[in-house]
Amino acid sequence: MGRTVYVDGAYVDEADAKVSIFDRGYLFGDGVYEVTAVLGGKLIDAEPHLERLDRSLGELEIAWPCSREELIEVHRELIRRNDLDQGGVYMQITRGVADREFYYPENTPTVLTAFTQARELLDTTNAKTGVKIVSMPDIRWQRRDIKSIALLAQAMSKQIAKAQGAFEGWMIEDGHVTEGTSSTSYIVKDGKVVTRPLSNAVLPGVTRRMLLRYMDETGVELDERLFSIDEAYGAEEAFLTSASTFVMPIVEIDGRQIGGGQPGPVARRLREIYIEEAWKTGI
Ligand code: PLP
Repeated sequence: MGRTVYVDGAYVDEADAKVSIFDRGYLFGDGVYEVTAVLGGKLIDAEPHLERLDRSLGELEIAWPCSREELIEVHRELIRRNDLDQGGVYMQITRGVADREFYYPENTPTVLTAFTQARELLDTTNAKTGVKIVSMPDIRWQRRDIKSIALLAQAMSKQIAKAQGAFEGWMIEDGHVTEGTSSTSYIVKDGKVVTRPLSNAVLPGVTRRMLLRYMDETGVELDERLFSIDEAYGAEEAFLTSASTFVMPIVEIDGRQIGGGQPGPVARRLREIYIEEAWKTGI
């Protein structure tokens, strides 16, 4: 028996999980997703993930498949059934099953699937040593604010990063860093944390949202503005955030050392603060 996963109303063994070939997620990438971290068997930052999910669904006119409470219960049941201590729950909602036509089908029930992924989040080598990243053009569509399951550009970009021995790719558009292929980008300049403002050009990261709140509460200064990759090369520090990495220090960008090649004090402190606060959000 493998993992127990959730498919459209049922908990089944992963080997028995099936979706229709007519599912619009399969045919068009017509769906949205969320990845929520799990620490100590508890869901982290569940509420802001639900809020972002609601926004993504709204932008695409996809109906909720169930209530928010039921969705949380699916997450918690998967954690229970799989005895998950640390890692994440992936969930996606697609527009559902209909004969292949581009326009949205009417009155088609949406399809919810979800599964757990066990993964060490706290005590990782990457967090201790910091990671290398490389830059590349941002080749994605223009509605990156929607957490769409259509991730081919990100998969291609992550593969380019991997081929160069890098942990992540930072994507560049009009001379500025947009974000990582699956993370939000930051640099530290004159002691202030610099990150790009939210717009259709980037995904509104839940980790970003919570981190900015904690920074505000602890008096870490924020400079919300665009920055170029050249500015990043000369930055005091660089780091990235996501639900699966929390705050991850960056020590090399495109072969250039950042902050002497060691995780910087701001990134290390923010990682500590984020993790300490994250536990408190667990449900
Ligand atoms: N930006 C992109 C493109 C992402 O795919 C992700 C996460 O998958 C993030 C940012 C970080 O978002 P979050 O902090 O909600 O995981």
